[in-house]
Amino acid sequence: MTVKIGIPRGLWFYDYYPLWKTFYEELGAEVILSNPTNKKTLDVGVRNTVDEACLPVKIFHGHVLDLRDKVDYIFLPKIMSVYEKEYICPKFCGLPEMVSHSIKGLPPIIDREINFNKSRSSLMKTVYDFGSYVTKNPVKIKRAYNCGLEVYKKYKVRIQEGFLPINGDFSNKTNGKSSITIAVMGHSYNIYDQYGSMNLITKLQQQGINIITPEMMNYRTINDYAETLEKKMFWSYGRKLLGTAMYLADVKNIDGIVYLSSFGCGIDSIIEDLVERKTRKEGKIPFLLITVDEHTGEAGVNTRLEAFIDMIEWRQRNEGNFSTHG
Ligand code: SF4
Repeated sequence: MTVKIGIPRGLWFYDYYPLWKTFYEELGAEVILSNPTNKKTLDVGVRNTVDEACLPVKIFHGHVLDLRDKVDYIFLPKIMSVYEKEYICPKFCGLPEMVSHSIKGLPPIIDREINFNKSRSSLMKTVYDFGSYVTKNPVKIKRAYNCGLEVYKKYKVRIQEGFLPINGDFSNKTNGKSSITIAVMGHSYNIYDQYGSMNLITKLQQQGINIITPEMMNYRTINDYAETLEKKMFWSYGRKLLGTAMYLADVKNIDGIVYLSSFGCGIDSIIEDLVERKTRKEGKIPFLLITVDEHTGEAGVNTRLEAFIDMIEWRQRNEGNFSTHG
């Protein structure tokens, strides 16, 4: 009988799902993704998560609930680190424990640790453990992992070509007809989740606006910028966002930045402020911060977005893009 592996459509999904989906499919498993986020995902997620959790963690719980009765296993690795000498948000590290304590009646969770601060052989042990739920053949597992890596590399190239993985699906390319280009900044699971982001990217695209996201940046370039910081940014998502902000402030090829943050995000409380300093204050680039939680009303977000775009258009017409700061 075919093993069914469930992959929740949240958090690390937007960065890594092509790798693990391919991995399990190559091993002969059936991969079932949870449905794109909707009102029900959010509502059940909120009811089944601790109050202190940020919005994407609550949404993630909703995705796990969506899969609960449909699969044999839920793929929910304990992600500690995805780059050497760096860390990821502590909520990723404790996610398997949070989920299994908050949601009852779950199928077994595949929760082995991914930690790039450990040796390569430790990483491969993790991969073999992931595969062992489908087959005990290490050769097959290694081959499936290599296939997954190939697909993952292509996924990253497509994003750099301008395709936006909205809800994890490359349905649209950023090719707006307007003269405005906006960088949409934030964690991938915030900006590409259509419901969770209140259709932020789609709303901008409907006005013909060109979009840039951190995932479209050249990895080496943003690393070079991030390395000029006085202290190493040891959070991986933070380094990506900050390196992108520094690059954009330098080349000035955008008209504004919209930063989407989750209320209660410890990492964003520092990163967002640093991004704003680098871009708005030092780079003189218009900056809009949108902070969302489960109570945020879409109408308020729309009003702020419209006012922001009006201001950019006005600047282009009348101001010659003088600084908005100071
Ligand atoms: S980085 Fe922020 S938004 Fe992301 S999981 Fe951690 S606390 Fe939540």
